[in-house]
Amino acid sequence: MKRLDLFKIILVEPQNPINVGNVMRAMKNMGLRHLALVKPAEMDMARTQISAHRTEDMLEDIEVFDSLDDALSGIHESYGFSARKRTQTWASLDMESAVSRSLALADQNLSIAFVFGREQSGLTNEELVRCSCRVHIETSDYTSLNLAQAVLLASYALLRQTRAPKDTQPTAAPLENHAPDTRPATQDEQLRLLKTLESALVDIGYFKSPDPNTAIHRVHNILTRADIHNDEYHLLMGIVKEISNFAALTERGIPIKKIRPAKSLSDADPGQCL
Ligand code: SAH
Repeated sequence: MKRLDLFKIILVEPQNPINVGNVMRAMKNMGLRHLALVKPAEMDMARTQISAHRTEDMLEDIEVFDSLDDALSGIHESYGFSARKRTQTWASLDMESAVSRSLALADQNLSIAFVFGREQSGLTNEELVRCSCRVHIETSDYTSLNLAQAVLLASYALLRQTRAPKDTQPTAAPLENHAPDTRPATQDEQLRLLKTLESALVDIGYFKSPDPNTAIHRVHNILTRADIHNDEYHLLMGIVKEISNFAALTERGIPIKKIRPAKSLSDADPGQCL
């Protein structure tokens, strides 16, 4: 399979068939084939051909989904494209690094989605959270690109890197999240986290046999791969300690105050747009 065949372009709620046509043309020019639409406006797909000459062959392969989650099913890593510049807490990459990372993953036969938002209002926060990472394409202070132009720039970067000489082949840049403290967690912090996790898991009766090593070793592998930062270590440590506290309070019959985040991941509410 060709590397670019592992890429899917997802458009969330596109409104205008001319824009979809321009996206199809950009994709065809750059060698991408798989297009998915999430809840497109009622559109006469024949009208896409006003702007998308010679893309008739793509029409019947376009997938249509009711939700972004459905469109992302089976995808290994997804990149949410946003006109808004990155903020501290989101995993984000600049476009070149995102393209490089995604091609390196495609080399391992993993499937990738590039997700683009509505022409008027972009992607909602909740939709961006569904993506593994967000990507902002560098512009002047006027950051909002036309939908099809954003797709064209991303697909062009993909094609260029695909054709780059062998010695500049893509590397999987880590997903940065611009955390306030970006020093990596030390080995002893990681060990302390694992030990605290182990006792929390004991407290909640997670282990079904006295040989917990496999699970703990696997979490160790995840932590090592994730290359967590110091502030992320503190976040995870806080969560793990709360699990033990919860178990202790429950054992003593003390009621727990449960606060649900104002915007929970399980809410269907489309939320704020970006
Ligand atoms: N008016 C919206 C932008 C919508 S443009 C806003 O200002 O937020 C439609 C889509 O094109 C966006 O959802 C995003 O996926 C993509 N896009 C536009 N400009 C972009 C940029 N500078 N970087 C990354 N993606 C961009």
